[in-house]
Order: sequence, then C-alpha cells, then structure tokens
Amino acid sequence: MTERIPCIREGCEHMILPATAAKTGGYCMPCKQEMEREAHQRYIEANRRDVNLYEGITDAADVLKIMHAPRTYDPLIRYIPYKYSMEQVYLSLSTEQQLEMKRYAMELIRSEDEDAGKDILLYLVCYHNLPLTAEIPELLEREIVYPAVLFKSASNETRDHLIQQVDNDEENRNHILMMLAYIGDEAVVQQFWQWKQSVPDWASELYVAPDRYTLQAGWELTGDGQRRELFITPSYSLYEAGNSDAEGSESENLDGVPISLLVPSSNHCPWCGSSLISLMNLHVQHPALQSVDWRFPQLDVQTCLVCSSYSVMYMEMDAEGKPIWSKHNVKPDGLDEIDVEEIKADVSGLVRSTLNGSVQRRLFHIASEPRQPFHGSEWAMEPSLSQVGGHPGWVQDADYPACPACTATMKAIGQLDGELIQENGEGVYYMFGCEPCQMTAVSYQQS
Ligand SMILES: [Zn+2]
Ligand SMILES: [Zn+2]
Ligand SMILES: [Zn+2]
Repeated sequence: MTERIPCIREGCEHMILPATAAKTGGYCMPCKQEMEREAHQRYIEANRRDVNLYEGITDAADVLKIMHAPRTYDPLIRYIPYKYSMEQVYLSLSTEQQLEMKRYAMELIRSEDEDAGKDILLYLVCYHNLPLTAEIPELLEREIVYPAVLFKSASNETRDHLIQQVDNDEENRNHILMMLAYIGDEAVVQQFWQWKQSVPDWASELYVAPDRYTLQAGWELTGDGQRRELFITPSYSLYEAGNSDAEGSESENLDGVPISLLVPSSNHCPWCGSSLISLMNLHVQHPALQSVDWRFPQLDVQTCLVCSSYSVMYMEMDAEGKPIWSKHNVKPDGLDEIDVEEIKADVSGLVRSTLNGSVQRRLFHIASEPRQPFHGSEWAMEPSLSQVGGHPGWVQDADYPACPACTATMKAIGQLDGELIQENGEGVYYMFGCEPCQMTAVSYQQS
C-alpha cells in the first residue's frame, strides 16, 4: 500500500497519493480546484470591463428597446444599469413613442421574439392604457391568447367573434373567457348574464362557473345582471419618500404628498397579541376616495399583519369611525400551531422603527397625479404595486372577500407591497371595503 502524503496547501489536512501530488504539484484535488476557481475569479476581476449600452442614447423608446433586447451572459462584461427603472422609462413615453413601441412590439412578435413583444404590449396597455384594437386580430391569428388584459380594447367585431368561439374552441375557452371579462362591455355583460341564467354544456369542463371569470378583470354581475366594479378608481401610487434604491426609485420622479401608512395602533390583535397596524389612513376628501361612500372623515384600514397573512381580517367602525375588531372574524384553524412569535419578530422591526419616535419615522407619499387603473395589475411584470385605487395586482387568482355582514363582494381599495412594509418583505396585502356596512378587510397573497 502506497503511503499518503499531506497536501501542501497551508491549513489543509488532506492526505493524498504521491501520484496525485505529482499531477497537481502537491495539492489535494479540492485545493487544486479551489485555487483554479480563485485564479479564474481574479482573471475576471482584472479583465472585466463596464459596458454602458445606453451611452449616447437619449430617446426613451430606444432605451426600452435596449432594455428588452436579449443579452448574452459574459462574465467579462458588467452591464451598467440605466439610470431609471424600466417602469419609469415607460411612464415617460410620449404618445408618439408609445406608438413606436407598439410598432416595434408587433415587429418582434412577427419575427424572432414573441415574448419580448408581448411584454412590451403589456406595459403599454397597463401603464398607458394604449388600445390594441387594430393589432388584436393579428395577435389572435398568431394564437396569442394571453395575458388577457391585452385584449380589453378589442373591437365589437372581434368581441362577437370571441363570443362565438367560446362554444367551439375547447382548447382556448379558458383564455377567451378571460379576454371577454377584460373587454367587459355591455354585450359581454349580457353574455355572461345569459351563461349564468342558462349554464352552457361546456361550463362543466371549467374549474369555475363562466360568470366567475369576470372577477379576474375586476367586476362582477349583480343579482339583476348589471356590471358592478370591484375596485375603486382613480389609482394613486404609494411609495416611501426619500427611498432612492436604483431600481424602482419612483420617488425621484413623483412629487407626492405625505400619507399615513403603516402606523401602529394602540389596539392589539386578540389572536396573536401584536399591535394592530393602520395600513393606510386617508382623508375621505382625497380624490383617490372620490368614489367611496364613507361616513367618517378618515378611511383607516387597520389589520394585524401577522394574522391577516393567514386569513381575511375584518374591521368595523365605531361611532367615531375608529376601526374596531369585527365580531365576524373567525380564527383560522391551525393559527395556534403557527409560531406567532417568530412571525412577530419579523414584523416588529416595523413597529419599533415606526414607534420609536418622530425622528425615525418612515415617511410615505401618495403620488400627486393618478395613474392608469391597470398600472399595478400585472404582478409578474414587477410594477410598483403599492397603491390606493386601481385593479389589484393579484399574486394568485383574484380573491375578493365577501362582506361577512351583508355577503356582498367587497371592493378593492388598495394594496401594499410586502417590500414596502419591511425589508425583504414578500407578498402583497390587499385592502377592501364594504360601504353599506362601513367595514374594511385585509387579505394577503404571496407566490
Ligand atoms: Zn488540500
Ligand atoms: Zn394577529
Ligand atoms: Zn357589507
């Protein structure tokens, strides 16, 4: 048996065969590999160069084309990010530039990069409400059937065609129903109403009844077949003031005004003992609440951040309009087994930083100007999500709670991105209201 010798690297205690030592110059294989990796890393660092693809580019549409272009990964190149986020650049587009981007997106769809083309169209529709009426027939011809929001500006002719197609096109039925929900005009409302009155044969193949599709597009049928909106408009962006992370530093471009967000209340959650938090407390005269029928001067949406991430939590208003724990709240099964302490520790960072004084208090703003109602609606596209008003950015399927007092579907009032609530926060908190009952609700979704 050959006698093993120690690896010559300092601190390594591996014993190796002389044959290995001869091959590696005395090192064990793990050390040898580690040293090669380090040498490679040094080489990359010494030879890596910065590349600024935006050098000299001034036109916002040109900037976006570069942002959407596929980039081959090269460890020797470090791409300098653009000074504004993609969202900010989209928002800055003039009408002409929007049309140019639409033309470019269709070009991509016809050639090599359908996904990038669809992404561009999605941003144009969500951020600018740009109609795609002329393009939709071609999208359908190319068998592009989602995201459904792209189709909301379909012509009457296309709409009628889609209504016909639902009956026969088993493969795309799900997508077509979603498109129709987004189109949502009078003819569509009538059609969904008909399907509700006399359920078609194909409905049994769907996961939900046809008329439930309307929820995905933010409306529902009333008991007498009318369209009822499930989210309030206009929509205003909410953000932390003075927070200028390079990515998503929307605050630089927006001159908002202060708004009260994430302020701990003196009340505690009867389930877990945490401080209840006022997610948002906004004066009812604010234009964001112009469509909300609230009987008190402030709309204060309180919840327990811990417990509302497990089940919808409802609050009622006392005689002064101060939120109080609703008697309708039902403690979810299994909440006792959840390690509340662990989650509380997670959330208490916020409570402390907000409580310990006026000095450290985080400052939030609400944008001065409204944005498009669907701006924050496509969660996967990573828009700035926090908002009052506007279509919810569902992480999962649309899920509007029913008011526990009157059973009506509660309207979405706004939402807060988990990242706004705490560093590395996940998911989205959704705020709802029932006006006749003067109740609020908060729910939570995460990926
Ligand atoms: Zn070694
Ligand atoms: Zn709680
Ligand atoms: Zn109600």
